[in-house]
Amino acid sequence: MEDKQVLLDALKFHGHKCWASVAGVRIGLAALRVLGVKRSGGSQLYGIVEIGEDHGGMCFGDGVQYVTGCTLGKGNIRKQPYGKLAFTLIDKATNRSIRVSYKPTLQKQIAKSVFMQKRGMGVQPDEIPIEEQMELVNLVWDAPESDVLTVGEVVTCKCEWFPEVMGFKPCDACGELTAQAYLRVAGDKHVCIPCSGYDR
Ligand SMILES: [Zn+2]
Ligand SMILES: [Zn+2]
Repeated sequence: MEDKQVLLDALKFHGHKCWASVAGVRIGLAALRVLGVKRSGGSQLYGIVEIGEDHGGMCFGDGVQYVTGCTLGKGNIRKQPYGKLAFTLIDKATNRSIRVSYKPTLQKQIAKSVFMQKRGMGVQPDEIPIEEQMELVNLVWDAPESDVLTVGEVVTCKCEWFPEVMGFKPCDACGELTAQAYLRVAGDKHVCIPCSGYDR
């Protein structure tokens, strides 16, 4: 698929158009290209995203998830919460990995934009006129890659991968469907965590 189409699809998934999600898309595309792998339809790839919690630019995480197929739902991504716009992609078949980070080059320009001024006043991003959203999308999308991304070396990680535990059963107490690995033993019953009284 054309990269531009991937970008548009990612922004549609994300819900609005912003610079950080575009940075995530570009980083995801660069990581796939350098490793020479395709988007993870299953769990062939594993990602580590360095955004944290409750800070600007976390939209980055949606860009990388959409493009690489390393998603919360598939469980093949985790956060290393450093508050950075950086992402490591690992090909599980070979354990080759690449870290790509976003450079500060455009940040002054981004900070001065109408979009960011309005964000600073508390306007929700999807309530900002589309052409003001697109100004930053185009800025980040059109910049030469070496201006905005630092692409690391491909290295081999010592990662171990565990098979997923298949299967669900109803909790013997509340009856709600619960993944096998999350059932706890209480007397002669197998119950979900809230019914068990355990923390986890
Ligand atoms: Zn966003
Ligand atoms: Zn239960």
